Amino acid sequence: MSDSSTMFTLVFSDTLSTAPHLAQRLGDYSTCLVRPSHSYPFHLPPQEIKIDEILYSSERTAVYSGRCANGLELVLKFTNIKDMSAEAGAYDAFENLQGTKTEKAKILNKLAEAHRTGLFPLDFAERNVVVKDDDYRLIDLGRAERHDPPCRWTYDFTAHVEDDDVKSTDPSVQCGSIKSWAEDMRFWDHGKLILSRTILLPKSDKLPPQHIVDCLSTAIGLSSDHDYIMTDRKQIGAKYLTIVWEQMTKHGMLLEDVQKRRQYFTYLAHKEWHDERNEIFVPLPGMNFTSRKPQWLAHDSKSSFDSEATQ
Ligand SMILES: [Zn+2]
Repeated sequence: MSDSSTMFTLVFSDTLSTAPHLAQRLGDYSTCLVRPSHSYPFHLPPQEIKIDEILYSSERTAVYSGRCANGLELVLKFTNIKDMSAEAGAYDAFENLQGTKTEKAKILNKLAEAHRTGLFPLDFAERNVVVKDDDYRLIDLGRAERHDPPCRWTYDFTAHVEDDDVKSTDPSVQCGSIKSWAEDMRFWDHGKLILSRTILLPKSDKLPPQHIVDCLSTAIGLSSDHDYIMTDRKQIGAKYLTIVWEQMTKHGMLLEDVQKRRQYFTYLAHKEWHDERNEIFVPLPGMNFTSRKPQWLAHDSKSSFDSEATQ
């Protein structure tokens, strides 16, 4: 090992969780000598840090909170570069989809807080957000610049979870960076529902709200003989959601039952769309209900689908 004057001593408290965590794999656990990586500037002088809490622990990553001798609180993340990249890739792919709007609001407020204190984080990403007891913290703020000129953002996300939209001229949203993160995380839906990650549909009374739509992803645009373009997928998606919402609102079908039956509803939406065009619909084998009734329909006398299913 190198020059000991650059080494930190991490002392892991014995009150930490008894469940296994990543740092235990270090040879010198529970008093470990570590050196900060060279990739980021590090301003803390080498010293002893007491680790007294695990904020997050998984097979590949652990996030600890600790305290310096002068009381400064630190958050430390343990992982290895290879896993970190894999993890980052996985998170980035789902970045826009995770979490409820309230959670997004809390995370975005933390980002706004960092901006207010004059920091402009360069590494803001969902993987750098940890949560414990409903309290969100941003970690990995090592790569940050000074917010110059100071941030003018004053919009409180948690006070606006009901907002579908915000005017770009609104004086409370005048920071391009926060605005674009909020857009990326789909904080405002701008009056659109999103289905299966790609299809945007205008909201309407005939369609379920987004939190229901989120539970109803389905393979829209699948057929063995058709290359659907986006307009087609939108139309079929709208049909599918209309059918589903009608089942829930008019016939009282529970969400979990709708979920089990979504292949059938997808089939119906496709069939209707093709019929309107006098086209023959060739479903993929998994969703081919052309010559069979779904089992639940056979013994569900209340269903309104008997006529359609036997056509
Ligand atoms: Zn800002």
